[in-house]
Amino acid sequence: MKSPLFGFKKGEHLIIRDSEIRRKRIFASKRPIRHLIFDLDDNLFPSTQFSNMARRNALNAMIEFGLDAKYEELEKMLLDIIGKRGSNYTNHFDLLLKRLKVPVHYHAAFIAAAVRAYHNTKSTLTPYPDVHRNLISLRENFLLYVASDGLAVKQWDKLIRMGIPFLFDDVFVSETLRRKKEQPAFYTGIVQTIGAKPEECVMVGDREDRDVVSAKKAGLFAVRMRRPDSKYCEGKTVADEDIKSLDELEAAIMRIVNHHGLKPVASLLDI
Ligand SMILES: [Mg+2]
Repeated sequence: MKSPLFGFKKGEHLIIRDSEIRRKRIFASKRPIRHLIFDLDDNLFPSTQFSNMARRNALNAMIEFGLDAKYEELEKMLLDIIGKRGSNYTNHFDLLLKRLKVPVHYHAAFIAAAVRAYHNTKSTLTPYPDVHRNLISLRENFLLYVASDGLAVKQWDKLIRMGIPFLFDDVFVSETLRRKKEQPAFYTGIVQTIGAKPEECVMVGDREDRDVVSAKKAGLFAVRMRRPDSKYCEGKTVADEDIKSLDELEAAIMRIVNHHGLKPVASLLDI
């Protein structure tokens, strides 16, 4: 089976078709680190900011449609529902209307208004400004992957909307892997699938527990991303390196290589 987008051989993981020559070149190189794995939310795009904006637009759409409630009251209720049901629950707005004792007859209209506003916000989804240029540059010397907790279609939707899926060699989502990031087996599974050794891989993400501690337990190197707008930007880390933007990643990888005596280098081109 083949799709226009992927060269897919039965029993193998998906490989973007045009990357085969590049893959072979990178695998054949003597670079100690060949695989970079990227967390998605608050690492490649401002997830927290986006969620806040989408929620605000959805609630304002309900108010505009005639819901008799104050924005702050609605937001507090909605956040409580999201906290109890999780962000991937699909009936947040139904529960909100039930709590407000809105007659069921009107639910569909309010939900449609909210969902439309929420989905319209998705069209504004853009990566952090440092993402495109750095991924294109890093692709020269590394194989690039996404590793994310969540629903597979939802995470792919984000990548496609941002126009960046083809910069990656593969995408791994917990729903499909049936393991979550907090389990080191999540990373072990990825490493096995891509045919790498853990010590050839660097995981880059903003969550200490899921992106750093768990990846290191699986034997990978880890870089903690501290985007100033991420709610996880503070706190101690056991990561090998700390960065605030992808502009700092190449230098961080060089330091990891040199620090661990993998092979001293002055520039990534020497690796
Ligand atoms: Mg994240």
